[in-house]
Amino acid sequence: REVLLEVEDLKTYFPIKAGFFQRTVGHVKAVDGVSFQIHNGETFGLVGESGCGKSTTGRTLLKLMNPTDGKIIFDGQDISSLKGKTLRAIRKDFQMVFQDPYASLNPMQMVGDIVSEPLVNFRGKSVKELKEEVMDLLNKVGLPSDAYYKYAHEFSGGQRQRIGIARALALRPKLIIADEPVSALDVSVQSQVLNLLKELQNEFQLTFLFIAHDLSVVKHMSDRIAVMYLGGIVEVTDKNSIFAEPLHPYTQALISAIPEPDPRKKKQRIILEGDVPSPANPPTGCPFHPRCSHAMKECMEVKPTLKEVKAGHNVACHLYN
Ligand code: SF4
Ligand code: MG
Repeated sequence: REVLLEVEDLKTYFPIKAGFFQRTVGHVKAVDGVSFQIHNGETFGLVGESGCGKSTTGRTLLKLMNPTDGKIIFDGQDISSLKGKTLRAIRKDFQMVFQDPYASLNPMQMVGDIVSEPLVNFRGKSVKELKEEVMDLLNKVGLPSDAYYKYAHEFSGGQRQRIGIARALALRPKLIIADEPVSALDVSVQSQVLNLLKELQNEFQLTFLFIAHDLSVVKHMSDRIAVMYLGGIVEVTDKNSIFAEPLHPYTQALISAIPEPDPRKKKQRIILEGDVPSPANPPTGCPFHPRCSHAMKECMEVKPTLKEVKAGHNVACHLYN
């Protein structure tokens, strides 16, 4: 399959300012050298604990913030340094579905207006001219037709997320970045929204970057999965291999933490010591070494790079040198 998005050594740093003159005294390395490819029509899952840089990666790809370094090649075009009009023109091709449907939609805005907005901005048509198209979109995401005239605050979380999805779909994007799209929702509606995303993917030939902290949600959605830790990808492979044969000690710990529904199957849980270190002051060598039970001398000195250790299975760990 063709590559739709290629990310090369992406870095997004935030300056830490201090003192009366607000001098830059250091950097938070939120995303620190991330590379991956997403193929047309696939769902690429990005998973990791909160604070590992998943959302910043997503936001940088959408150019909601500028990368400090690295390349973002979307549909054959390098968009890393695009600005203004040229960026605006390509931006309709990638959209975001946000984590919190309560915070991302104006509660006092009519749903018809919310979903029309991107179409009005990009096509210069009036809300009235777009009404039929917007009604059709609401229908596609499973909302009742009178939703058009209601206000966002009149809907439940799951329905609000459907409104957010309709808005993201309006411009017929190629790529949708979904950042924890169901983690603010009740468990009972999570799978409905996930299934809707899958249906829409087939219908509109969408490519997804699916960001979540919950491996079981990512598993349900993804073709390939990348595990992030402290601003970097530590393992990438297809969904089945990551569960059947996790290679990185961090991935192994994440998988061991998923509850096993069958009580007859015994599972050894790997407990991780301590918290994720601060990205403002990351450990030397392998960023995972303070929490890794396999850590060797080398791990404290040399940062492992992502290497293919089996066909289509990449891992950043000195155990596989
Ligand atoms: Fe553990 Fe070393 Fe591998 Fe890092 S490189 S995950 S510390 S074994
Ligand atoms: Mg996040």
